Amino acid sequence: MKINKYLLFGLISILVSCKSTRNQVSLEKNTPKNVILLIGDGTGLSQISSAFYFKKTPPNYGRFKQVGLIKTSSSRQDITDSAAGATAFASGVKSYNGAIGVADDSTEVATIVEIVSPKNINTGVVSTSSIVHATPACFYAHVLNRGLYEEIASDMVASDINFFAGGGTKFFNKRADERNLLKELETKGFNIDTTKLGDINSIKSYSKAGYLFKPEHMAPAAKGRGNFLPTATELGIQFLSKNDSNFFLMVEGSQIDWGGHGNDAKYLITELIDFDYAIGKALDFAEKDGNTLVIVTADHETGGFTLSSTTKKTEEGREYSDYNEITGTFSTDGHSAALIPVFAYGPGAEEFSGIYENTEIFHKIMKLTKWKNSK
Ligand code: MG
Ligand code: ZN
Repeated sequence: MKINKYLLFGLISILVSCKSTRNQVSLEKNTPKNVILLIGDGTGLSQISSAFYFKKTPPNYGRFKQVGLIKTSSSRQDITDSAAGATAFASGVKSYNGAIGVADDSTEVATIVEIVSPKNINTGVVSTSSIVHATPACFYAHVLNRGLYEEIASDMVASDINFFAGGGTKFFNKRADERNLLKELETKGFNIDTTKLGDINSIKSYSKAGYLFKPEHMAPAAKGRGNFLPTATELGIQFLSKNDSNFFLMVEGSQIDWGGHGNDAKYLITELIDFDYAIGKALDFAEKDGNTLVIVTADHETGGFTLSSTTKKTEEGREYSDYNEITGTFSTDGHSAALIPVFAYGPGAEEFSGIYENTEIFHKIMKLTKWKNSK
């Protein structure tokens, strides 16, 4: 009997120690080294659904197992704009529409880029709009109003960003103050290219790389932009992860929003499909790497977009809804207040299920990566 008691005690000890080891392992497993945040500006559930009907290959959105919803209202408005939306993601605070990296009381708030750069974590932003447009700007700039593009460009020079790609040369080299920020960026160690996206071999010896095309925004995907967004996403990942560095990368599909504002379903859907290819590049890397958290979400929905049935007429002239043919229709040329899907893959992805405020995206990233407290 005595022996049995000892046996039992031993067995329990082994079980307890196994359990604690397993807990430690799973905690480590939930600490991503890298985060890729992809923002489809103006992308609600119908926009995402359009990939499942109109993309010829299986949508990358379909590769996620963890899905949640965010509430997107800004500090003063039920319906947010992209500036308040991106300030929520980049800094974890609700602010007013138009705010870039400032709180509702106009004080500057620290961005992810500012928090992680001193810890030798590489950072980058990619967008199909001008790189000083509201969504990317919130990750490195602080201005009271989103329209202050030249000030936002100066904040890019002052920031510690390692990689950027997007539109907007004129805000850097044709400025009212006559500064040439492209030259200033080169002085800071940037390889700047305004002609074409390079390959990793052309930039890997630099600590920083910037690509700027077009005076303002990139062309739409269907009108000459080609595969810029997925290619820049892949290049950004290669550049930021070189020498096994940890990194944060924000990628924006900027023009999905503009298809919504224009009530142009074809524009919207081609931009959404292009964004889906960029998601694929992020997921391909994350699957191989194993330590990368990929989050896909949006600041808000645009257009009140719906995948309706097509209204047709019978030979007798009677109207009917053809359930075999989808037409994209709109209820507004502005933004809407709908809850917005969040997709997550990688270590800690389970944290992103449920319904929560848009500011939680920032707080969940910080909690999982422990970047705020790391050295
Ligand atoms: Mg945007
Ligand atoms: Zn918009």
